[in-house]
Amino acid sequence: MNKSETEILIIGGGAAGLAAAVSASDKKVLVVDDNPRLGGQIWRAELGKIKSPEARELVEKIEQKQVSILNNATVFGQKDEQTLLAETPKGTVELNFAKLIIATGARERFLPFPNWTLPNIFGAGGLQALVKNGLSVENKRVVIAGTGALLLVVAEYLKFKGAKVLLIAEQTSQVKLAKFGFGLITHPKKIAQAISLKTKLFGVKYLTDCYIKSAEGKGKLEAVNLTRNGKTWRVECDMLACGFHLVPNVELAQMLGCKVENGSVKVDEFQQTSTENIFCAGEPTGIGGVEKSLIEGKIAGFSVTENFEKAKAFFAERLKTQRFADVLNETFALRDELKNLPDAQTIVCRCEDVRFGDLKNYASFREAKLQTRCGMGSCQGRICGAATEFLFNWKNDSVRPPIFPVKLENL
Ligand SMILES: Cc1cc2nc3c(=O)[nH]c(=O)nc-3n(C[C@H](O)[C@H](O)[C@H](O)COP(=O)(O)OP(=O)(O)OC[C@H]3O[C@@H](n4cnc5c(N)ncnc54)[C@H](O)[C@@H]3O)c2cc1C
Repeated sequence: MNKSETEILIIGGGAAGLAAAVSASDKKVLVVDDNPRLGGQIWRAELGKIKSPEARELVEKIEQKQVSILNNATVFGQKDEQTLLAETPKGTVELNFAKLIIATGARERFLPFPNWTLPNIFGAGGLQALVKNGLSVENKRVVIAGTGALLLVVAEYLKFKGAKVLLIAEQTSQVKLAKFGFGLITHPKKIAQAISLKTKLFGVKYLTDCYIKSAEGKGKLEAVNLTRNGKTWRVECDMLACGFHLVPNVELAQMLGCKVENGSVKVDEFQQTSTENIFCAGEPTGIGGVEKSLIEGKIAGFSVTENFEKAKAFFAERLKTQRFADVLNETFALRDELKNLPDAQTIVCRCEDVRFGDLKNYASFREAKLQTRCGMGSCQGRICGAATEFLFNWKNDSVRPPIFPVKLENL
């Protein structure tokens, strides 16, 4: 088995992990990421041709500082308190560290509605990632539905790539969105981004208080049914990009015994978790967007190397990003009506084909898991866990290694 030793180990090469690596680079740092390229959800597709100034600056600094990078490595387990295990194309690697920063990002939340598993229904960010990697959407009629700022970013990107974006169905209310808009006054950069998006999306309908009721199609998506203020109508389309905001990736932190509260890793002002020598930054501490990830990454990197004064210099900036995150999460909180979308036949756990009707009589995720295998498939409850938390108020807090499926020979 291959072994690697480092003083500071960072899991996740997105905005938070890269910012942490730069701040911690007085010491020996290793960044591990499961993708072939660094950059995380926002930047990984462009890192070859780096367009964004923030990403370029981070990568240049990382190159100057000679931070070690291990790509294509998925951390799935723990050997002992100072050693994690990662699966790579060449087998398992032991990652020995003195201190650890968890920067594992977030994933999209999916909610079940009738026929949501039809081909050509994608996660909104997932479709964007596929297009960034070569999938053509030229002349495809696309409906975008769900909630959150990501819907606009995705719509703009798909339109730029030649898709016919028919409409964006945003479940939150006009009132909440207007309040959010006024709140942006203290964030001039975000106002500029919003204006730019709105200009690029000229001609695309953006309907608030609107959500998907069901999808239709024989063998693949043919149409979606949308509802708004009591009126329901049908829209024929080729693709549906759907996402209901984001869910923090906390499984690694949970496996290592770090305290998780309300779905996010609990950290102190220095981004230290409840477990000694383990820090956490970015989306796992609460969904907040790239600025929050960058600033938390910086603080974690300085704190892990005991540069506490340098870390403190960023506290005020972090507070601003946290306030923005609070408003963001309140604005895009899910409306209760979405709990009524699935019918008895709607699949909730797509790995194990468990339907809504099979689940509704159980009292907890654990009970449902034991009786129906819900959450026991290859995604290990990452999709249905977040859905059932919303639908039934269940908590999926039992995490066991391996946290990702691993080849038997690598275990
Ligand atoms: C699908 C998707 C698309 C998004 N697109 C955009 C966008 O276009 N614009 C925007 O402003 N925001 C976007 N976001 C929001 C985005 O999450 C943040 O704004 C920002 O990327 C967060 O940075 P981060 O470093 O916290 O996490 P991320 O950028 O998600 O980085 C975390 C990294 O850790 C890796 N990782 C996780 N677990 C492991 C493990 N066990 N082993 C090894 N590696 C691991 C992940 O693969 C990822 O590369 C998107 C989010 C999602 C889920």
